[in-house]
Amino acid sequence: MVYDCIVLGLGGLGSASLCAAARQGWNTLGIEQFGVVHDRGSSHGQTRIIRTAYFEHPDYVPLAQRSWDAWTELQRESGEWLVQKTGLLQVGPPEGEVVQGVLGSARKHDLPVDVFTPEELVAKYPALQPNPDHIGVFEASAGFLRVETCVTTLLKLARLAGATIQANTEVLSFSVDRQGLISVETTRGKLQTERLMVTAGPWTQQVLADCDFHFDVIRKQQQWFQIDRVDIKYENGFPCFLFETADGCFYGFPELDRLGMKLAEHSGGQAVLDPSSLDRQVDPHDQTRCEQFLDEHFHFTKRRLVHQSACMYTMSPDGHFVIDRHPRFDNIVLAAGMSGHGFKFLPVVGQQLVRLLQGENDPSFRFLQIGDRRC
Ligand SMILES: Cc1cc2nc3c(=O)[nH]c(=O)nc-3n(C[C@H](O)[C@H](O)[C@H](O)COP(=O)(O)OP(=O)(O)OC[C@H]3O[C@@H](n4cnc5c(N)ncnc54)[C@H](O)[C@@H]3O)c2cc1C
Repeated sequence: MVYDCIVLGLGGLGSASLCAAARQGWNTLGIEQFGVVHDRGSSHGQTRIIRTAYFEHPDYVPLAQRSWDAWTELQRESGEWLVQKTGLLQVGPPEGEVVQGVLGSARKHDLPVDVFTPEELVAKYPALQPNPDHIGVFEASAGFLRVETCVTTLLKLARLAGATIQANTEVLSFSVDRQGLISVETTRGKLQTERLMVTAGPWTQQVLADCDFHFDVIRKQQQWFQIDRVDIKYENGFPCFLFETADGCFYGFPELDRLGMKLAEHSGGQAVLDPSSLDRQVDPHDQTRCEQFLDEHFHFTKRRLVHQSACMYTMSPDGHFVIDRHPRFDNIVLAAGMSGHGFKFLPVVGQQLVRLLQGENDPSFRFLQIGDRRC
């Protein structure tokens, strides 16, 4: 049997791509080396921030707007709690990358944001202790996605649309014959397909070893702290937050449940040479850095680390996603280097991979194509 489309890797991106391909009416197979909805890649750990006023590059804004609509529609369709508006507070020096980037994107795309002095921030959120020289930019329409529920739901919708899933199966290699038919060698035998989507996350460089791509894989530690404050709880209206400090960039979420408040460092992190051997034990250095951030930027009397989970960022050389056709084969597409902020875009990236395989070019993705970039 020859599949219309195979999706290689079923993390967040692969699950969304599987759903998009199956909804296209293609006879689609998704292959995953681990069990589905696992915690060994980049798509686990309770929550992901969804925001629109993008400090990294204003061209992400239209994609983020489409993503909000797509998640809202998926939530309505599935009846699952996927996405939640809480607002996002971004704090930093007035001339810093985050504040300037958010304000620049908001200006360019006419997005509503509020700017707060440190005094106003403390009056609004007494749990916070901002640096007196910093300001806050609040995006009321931002929020969080419930990461495991999102992936589970995308896979369920993919199955409902006719997709097949083969878990605990590693893709060892693939090749393309003269007619363009793709053979995929797996630990459970050989498969054939007309089209291939490569969504292998931190394993992309290994999977596309003949392409000379370079992605840095970085270990990240997600940590959940209990502190003795009730006003940081989700039900009490605490927002998601991101702080650019002199020590690095830290972000977190309102406390959702008894695990406490999730906190992580966006900057820094150790290089991962082999994603399959990620060190998943708590790293005391990462823990200390988050504790220091907490001590310096929040008011409380007691804190306790309750839970941690290691995860990986996959970074392209310029920090932007790589979403394009394979350099040599038009019937193979890839999405990689989702660089620590790709989750929110999953549904629109999945749809874009389908469009690329249909020979269409959406100009809003041009800045993420390989082109002249050093990948
Ligand atoms: C700590 C952390 C915080 C983040 N915060 C945010 C945030 O707030 N907002 C946001 O938008 N994004 C965020 N991101 C980014 C986002 O979560 C990822 O970009 C997103 O989950 C996409 O992951 P992926 O599917 O590319 O990779 P993965 O989830 O790792 O999926 C790749 C899959 O491919 C499989 N695979 C690889 N090779 C093979 C093979 N040979 N055979 C079979 N299967 C294979 C792997 O097992 C894996 O399941 C964060 C990421 C991390 C790590």
